[in-house]
Amino acid sequence: MSENTPNISVVVPLYNEEESLPELTAWIGRVMEAHRFTYEVIFVDDGSRDASWQRVCDLQKENPCIRGIRFRRNYGKSAALYCGFEAARGEVVVTMDADLQDSPDEIPELYRMITEEGYDLVSGWKKKRHDPLGKTLPSRFFNATARLASGIRLHDFNCGLKAYRLKVVKSVEVYGEMHRYIPILAKWAGFRKIGEKVVHHRARKYGVSKFGWERMIKGYLDLITVMFMSRFGKSPMYFFGGLGTLMFLVGGGTAIYLIAEKLYKQTHALPLRGVTDQPLFYIAMAAVVIGVQLFLAGFLGELIGRNSGDRNRYLIDERL
Ligand code: UDP
Ligand code: MG
Repeated sequence: MSENTPNISVVVPLYNEEESLPELTAWIGRVMEAHRFTYEVIFVDDGSRDASWQRVCDLQKENPCIRGIRFRRNYGKSAALYCGFEAARGEVVVTMDADLQDSPDEIPELYRMITEEGYDLVSGWKKKRHDPLGKTLPSRFFNATARLASGIRLHDFNCGLKAYRLKVVKSVEVYGEMHRYIPILAKWAGFRKIGEKVVHHRARKYGVSKFGWERMIKGYLDLITVMFMSRFGKSPMYFFGGLGTLMFLVGGGTAIYLIAEKLYKQTHALPLRGVTDQPLFYIAMAAVVIGVQLFLAGFLGELIGRNSGDRNRYLIDERL
């Protein structure tokens, strides 16, 4: 195998998956050999408390294509993917879960779609899922929202089985719980050819799911962050400043109108109500104050952006 660029890097984030690892490794090995791929498997141990890391070490002794990264504590799947992506060297990078729910048999076709059909990213679609209803139902809802918000036609954003052109994984920054939105991050980084492949999905064989009901809340908050960042991340003033100015003008205009109305009625000796007796006046004042606050928030955002390291982080594709 050529030392530096294998055909495929398989990145596997894992947290307490000791039982699955030998089986998964053997299966990946079989598929790779059958198709004569050069490969590496990067196991990222996300602070497991069981014997997972020991397994990775043992497997590495038998097979030099195996690499391992171990976190000192549990940072989450996104962090594990981030570090795996950083280490990956293959022409195509495939991510898969460690729990044997994703099938390595899908790898050759994913590889072909990237290298021959020119996709930047191909996401798996667990069309027939083997998960409890409490998981599949929210997931449908969530995918529909993500589709609507991002304009990316995928059925299964959060599928652990995905394939990427190497350049893509080096350009997206997965943090927080953003692993659910890598296609959105990729699109945002300028990779437009995003495809989908129906993949086999199996019930979990060993161990337990690592995500509970909080996944839904976190999922939505992250979706909002992603959408917001992609639209206004580089220019918070456009959002906060715009909204703030609008509120300031509406509030200020209303207050001036109320005062003018009172003065007019006074000079013409018409019956009148004191400005401070009218609820509208207080609403207008609140709007002015909130408007100023929003404007300030936008301004501070711009100041912080101006002084932060990645203000000029532009992704350059090629140079001549
Ligand atoms: N995982 C991880 N860190 C975590 C939680 C999960 O690396 O904090 C890994 C886990 O070991 C598995 C993959 O992410 O390989 C998907 O997790 P899981 O199968 O529990 O998710 P589900 O299939 O229930 O969506
Ligand atoms: Mg799973």
